[in-house]
Amino acid sequence: MTGPGGRDGTGAAAGPLLDVRDLHVEFRTREGVAKAVNGVDYSVDAGETLAVLGESGSGKSVTAQAVMGILDSPPGFVTQGEVLFQGRDLLKLGPEERRKVRGAKMAMIFQDALSSLNPVLNVGEQLGEMFRVHRGMGRKEARAKAVELMERVRIPAAAERVKQYPHQFSGGMRQRVMIAMAMALEPDLIIADEPTTALDVTVQAQVMDLLAELQREFNMGLILITHDLGVVADVADKIAVMYAGRIVERAPVHDIYRAPAHPYTKGLLDSIPRVDQKGQELYAIKGLPPNLLHIPSGCAFHPRCPMAQAVCRTDVPPLYQVSRDRASACHFWKETLGESVDD
Ligand code: SF4
Repeated sequence: MTGPGGRDGTGAAAGPLLDVRDLHVEFRTREGVAKAVNGVDYSVDAGETLAVLGESGSGKSVTAQAVMGILDSPPGFVTQGEVLFQGRDLLKLGPEERRKVRGAKMAMIFQDALSSLNPVLNVGEQLGEMFRVHRGMGRKEARAKAVELMERVRIPAAAERVKQYPHQFSGGMRQRVMIAMAMALEPDLIIADEPTTALDVTVQAQVMDLLAELQREFNMGLILITHDLGVVADVADKIAVMYAGRIVERAPVHDIYRAPAHPYTKGLLDSIPRVDQKGQELYAIKGLPPNLLHIPSGCAFHPRCPMAQAVCRTDVPPLYQVSRDRASACHFWKETLGESVDD
């Protein structure tokens, strides 16, 4: 029998691997209630990559933490919604069941490998622990698996380096160790939160290529969280752009690059450095992301939006269906698309 997110007898996908529905998360602080996630819907199939894009404070990482069940609570609380993973609502599971799903079926890769790895254990011990705890392997067998994994993520001289400590690895190699840890139990879903932000451009590309290759090989769902539209073009199937805790645009990756349907997405695209603009000043979206304790009225982006009109200050834009697989939360999405509007 095949459940949702798996494959049926015909090889067709039986439903989304992960289906997040109307998720709300708030942080109860002394200053007030910060509405960090305000009704997020997204889904990922097996073998698919969803890039979740937005500036810091947009809610992209908080959504991922709620999905993984690692939200810092208190002060963070999921107040509404569903996180359906292989058909089961994870928000209804107890802490122990949740931990089991997280260990065996979902894994997360963080930006800062150095602080995510234990500095006093060598990488072989840390990788091996995954197999000892979750697969009941002995020390020797677990060590051999650790070497195998390190080779799989192309860490040179793995048999030697397995005895080294995290600080003895370069940033790129440490990120490969993190990927190896995430891959250890062959999860169905990986969430990578800014996995290459701390790396230089060449190493960034190598790490992204490796992630994409492993994802294809193991037919995993991948959620790639980033603030940088530049890194997702070659690896993502679809993109969800977040602003002030909402998805403001959702589209297949090529549609977004061809013509964004939301002024915020357009601003993010215009902020990508381009070779043919060398020497020119880089475009930046004016202003700052909103304070989540006081989200602006109407469209939360209106104080920064070059296309804002009076209605934007009063009316919250719904997520308008632009086409079958595309949506934009902008009253003026047609104007934003310009000549590319499909009649
Ligand atoms: Fe800009 Fe108005 Fe669209 Fe918001 S609804 S993105 S303020 S044009």
